[in-house]
Amino acid sequence: MSKFDVLAFDADDTLWHCESLFQDTQARLIEILDQYADHESVTARLHDTEESNIRLFGFGIKGFTLSMIETAIEISDRKISAEDIHEITMMGKAMLDSPLELFEGVDEVLEELASRYSLFLITKGDNMDQYNKIEKSDLAHHFNEIDVVLKKDVPTYHDLFAEHKTDPHRTLMTGNSIPSDVLPILELGGWGVHVPYYVVASFEKHGNDPKHSRFRRIDRLSRLPELIRQLEDG
Ligand SMILES: [Mg+2]
Repeated sequence: MSKFDVLAFDADDTLWHCESLFQDTQARLIEILDQYADHESVTARLHDTEESNIRLFGFGIKGFTLSMIETAIEISDRKISAEDIHEITMMGKAMLDSPLELFEGVDEVLEELASRYSLFLITKGDNMDQYNKIEKSDLAHHFNEIDVVLKKDVPTYHDLFAEHKTDPHRTLMTGNSIPSDVLPILELGGWGVHVPYYVVASFEKHGNDPKHSRFRRIDRLSRLPELIRQLEDG
């Protein structure tokens, strides 16, 4: 008998590039604010501003854009020009409008796994932003369930699996974030697979790896079918 009923996937930086877009935009913000503060101060201030705004804006590009503007106004001591604010606003719009870049082999991996398992997509962030990306990705047809959530914590996953009548013990979740994609599912009794992305959002950083028998790491998503075969045989 199979070990798993459901394979759940994160989307941003798991199926497609995302954080690199934020980092590139942030690098341009640092250039714009160069005359007011050094690189480290801008990075730290932006992080603090974003963190304090998450409660109000949630995760996503719109909230990030507002946080960039707030940071620019504060770090320049309100001297930032309207021209620069305009550029920052346009940077946010360009992010929302940018083409989606899927990781290599994603479509094939999902196609193969969808023939044997029920696939869920569980992504965090702004509804409109996430559904736009899902549409651009052309991957929606592989998934039995698609959920955009505000937080990725244990209660959220618990409620979501309950809603979909899914046993978390028979679920394997794959994602690029240890705190958001791996730890909650381990705590709920399922399997967590980490696929690292080369940049990690400041909110998704983690210390030590989980010491857990149901934790695995693969270096790229195309290794997932092979890992699942090994787990089913083991
Ligand atoms: Mg992610």
